[in-house]
Amino acid sequence: MTPGLAFTFLGTGAPPVSLRRAGPSHLVEAAGRKVLIDCGSGVSQRLVAAGHRGADIDLLIVTHEHSDHLVDFYQLVVSSWHQGRARPWRVMAPAPALANMRAQYEAFARERALRIAFEKRPDATGLDVQFEELREGVVAGLGELAIDAFLVDHKPVEPAFGLAIALAGSRIVFSGDTRLTPSLERAAKGCDLLVCEVFIDSQMPIVAGVRSAQTVAAVQAYHMTPAVVAQLAARTGARALALTHLVPPAADTAALAREIRAAGYAGPLIVGEDLMRLDWPERLLSWNGATLAF
Ligand SMILES: [Zn+2]
Ligand SMILES: [Zn+2]
Repeated sequence: MTPGLAFTFLGTGAPPVSLRRAGPSHLVEAAGRKVLIDCGSGVSQRLVAAGHRGADIDLLIVTHEHSDHLVDFYQLVVSSWHQGRARPWRVMAPAPALANMRAQYEAFARERALRIAFEKRPDATGLDVQFEELREGVVAGLGELAIDAFLVDHKPVEPAFGLAIALAGSRIVFSGDTRLTPSLERAAKGCDLLVCEVFIDSQMPIVAGVRSAQTVAAVQAYHMTPAVVAQLAARTGARALALTHLVPPAADTAALAREIRAAGYAGPLIVGEDLMRLDWPERLLSWNGATLAF
């Protein structure tokens, strides 16, 4: 059991294919619980690479219905069963995301029945799923670990949630996908770590046949630019800032860091990478064999 609070970046990407950044997914470990946030493309592989298994996840929270956050749901269920999962999944998501995952689950009902009958695995309960609607407020059943879901603004996708994650005096605020919004601002006040999505407008040129000026403006409108994120972190007095959900996933991260500095955030800055892990209360960052205090 992890003694403190650990936050692992499993996938720091977005819909564009990236070998470096898998689809959005993050793992929280605390109080003997493992909570998975989102299940983007590659989540099962990233869990294993990080030394975990889908079989051991206590709760999956999906923040909103965008495909990049839930596309690997069924793969996660089946791969976890093959790892020996022997208890039902607990899955929480806002209603539209829940409907999508129920539909994924239903689409494979015949496939699942064939597997159960033919593969003769010791236990089929690992394939069962308990779907619960995610609403504002504290998630029940996590012991000392407090996860508080708050509404963010990712319209027209709604509802969409951010999460405040706390254990024994350490508090992480996870933005989810959102434009700048007062609820995020309130939640982030004085947190130990603000984990923010970022849309790097300076690195999103217009490309004929891929995206027009209108596309860039539309996508930017429901995300946050580096300047917005930096100013948010500075205003709220976040003790550290981490960036994830990088758009574009192939971003120049040094240039991104310079933009954050130029926009007025001077505290500890972490540009998230897949498989990077942060630990409290030690305030250690571990990645790729290196460990740093932040
Ligand atoms: Zn997203
Ligand atoms: Zn989204």
